[in-house]
Amino acid sequence: MINLLPDHVANQIAAGEVVQRPAAAVKELMENAIDAQATDIKLIIKDSGKTLIQVIDNGSGMNEVDARMCFERHATSKISKAEDLFALRTKGFRGEALAAIAAIAQVELKTKTEESELGIQLTIEGSKFKGQEICTCANGTSFSIKNLFFNVPARRNFLKSDRAEYKYILDEFIRIALAHPVITFSLINNEKEQYRLPKETLRQRLVSLYGKKYNPRLVPVEENTDIVNISGFVCKPEFAKKSRGEQYFFVNDRFIKSSYLNHAVLNSMEGLLQGDLHPTYFLFLDIDPSKIDVNIHPTKTEIKFEDERSVYAILRSALKRSLGQYNIAPSLDFSLNPEFQVPITSKNRVLRTPNVQVDPTFNPFEQEREIGNSALSSGINNPIEHQQNYRKPTNSEKGKHWEALFEEIQDDMNTAIPEYQPSVETVEMEVDIGESRFSFQLQNKFILTQLKSGLLIIDQQRAHTRVLYEQYFKSLPNKRPLSQQLLFPQEIYLSPGDMELFKEILDDVESLGFDISMPAELCLMINGVPFETKAGEVDKIIEALLDSYKNESDAWKQDSHKYMAKNLALSNSVKTGQALNTEEMNQLIDELFACEMPFVSVHNKPTAIILEMSELFKRFQ
Ligand code: ADP
Ligand code: MG
Repeated sequence: MINLLPDHVANQIAAGEVVQRPAAAVKELMENAIDAQATDIKLIIKDSGKTLIQVIDNGSGMNEVDARMCFERHATSKISKAEDLFALRTKGFRGEALAAIAAIAQVELKTKTEESELGIQLTIEGSKFKGQEICTCANGTSFSIKNLFFNVPARRNFLKSDRAEYKYILDEFIRIALAHPVITFSLINNEKEQYRLPKETLRQRLVSLYGKKYNPRLVPVEENTDIVNISGFVCKPEFAKKSRGEQYFFVNDRFIKSSYLNHAVLNSMEGLLQGDLHPTYFLFLDIDPSKIDVNIHPTKTEIKFEDERSVYAILRSALKRSLGQYNIAPSLDFSLNPEFQVPITSKNRVLRTPNVQVDPTFNPFEQEREIGNSALSSGINNPIEHQQNYRKPTNSEKGKHWEALFEEIQDDMNTAIPEYQPSVETVEMEVDIGESRFSFQLQNKFILTQLKSGLLIIDQQRAHTRVLYEQYFKSLPNKRPLSQQLLFPQEIYLSPGDMELFKEILDDVESLGFDISMPAELCLMINGVPFETKAGEVDKIIEALLDSYKNESDAWKQDSHKYMAKNLALSNSVKTGQALNTEEMNQLIDELFACEMPFVSVHNKPTAIILEMSELFKRFQ
């Protein structure tokens, strides 16, 4: 009953997996050229690869025997025994691609090695050998793939629009060009040259591909350890994007996708990224090939690390360090960014007295009367105790908060933020915020408001995180006190490993306000969530909780409530970049100063600072 499939049928089936679309053939051919040590690779495309895909390289070339052999299934020069799989440095190793491509297209190969004077030209069509002759050609190899899927019309019909297919090709081209800046690449599409990339450095290649504006955004990352070497660039967090655009991981120069490593990047930028923006990065991980498995996915874009957690931790700390060194991390909040410093003198500039125009009819008192009792004056006259929802601290409470605050800041100050020295008075001053106060948002990051003694500047994200943290923390012992039921319960699927871990923290997570059932083996059903949780964020939050448990499980065990409250607060807080209206700003100010420790963020950084009048007067002297 059982038949062995003829090779050409097996090849066609395999082609379905390896070559789903023209872009996949592009990837395989370009990777073969790189494996053949080419230093110059040309890609020629017609009709988004449906009519022609040609890759010309100046690599090793093939002799006559190899040129015939290379289309056989499992024909590869890259490995010869099983152990070789653990020392892979080449892109290919399965010997499947050319057999698969030749099964579903008309292929013309021209190739010549340095040693031979003449090259060989060979045609093959739907796995059938069509002819072979001697030819004159340059050293290296040229594969022309014509009429892809000519004998599998179903696949051809499955292809998307020309533009979409070309976009896939472009993605592959760029991934490969990024991974190999020392190789010269060009891309010709429908007879027009789209790219010509000379041999260059990675920074230059990024600029060649994405434009000059990228240069100042790039922060270098470099970390060498026994487990993994990391290099590449991350873009400054302020250039993060709305969509997941340029996020590239290369492991041993192979492009891979990894949400786990992406999380490490996000984690390293905690507090620096605005809202839901996605950071841009080009990161290269170099790792002993025996410590990874690239053979878990047909297109090899997913890989398995033997020691995934260490790679995560090293990546995160490498990024943190780079961001810190380049003055982007919050620990350096108080240092001046050199880009923003205005040069006071300039050699070639003639200083002129500013030409001031004065309105002679201006009477300042008139204006003040107009404003009347609102903003300015009442801000000073109506102390905050008149506010309904403000929980006024009693004197003893104030003292207590202050002591606690002071100790914590003192601890922190020795290391991170020497300039931050609030005096006892600054804490007292909090009660002097006016009732109908005038609040103002600066760059969707800071809230400015007037105090009796000066100007209060609040970091909105840190402040709201502090507020939520205290609220969640207080509610924790009451078990699901502040839960809101979801209209549409959400399913979240976890890997078996994650599910086991999640069961360990299920009780804790439920006491935060999550209402969770488990309808199936690896499925969580989220029926309710803690207050202030956005329904669309639920899976992200669960993932973040799980990750923080994974990565800091000791700290978690020591004080799980603190950890969870902090995590949830970080996920749910108002982010930098979010515009707030007056009411929201005032509510946040009220809530912040109803906190036990209003001036300290959950990461022990300032949430708010006060610029005193006396300081302002000094600056204007
Ligand atoms: P793999 O890359 O997994 O070895 P392929 O089917 O892609 O399998 O290629 C088969 C073999 O053909 C390669 O191992 C290599 O020896 C040879 N080959 C393919 N492309 C080239 C090229 N551009 N230059 C030189 N040799 C090549
Ligand atoms: Mg190959």
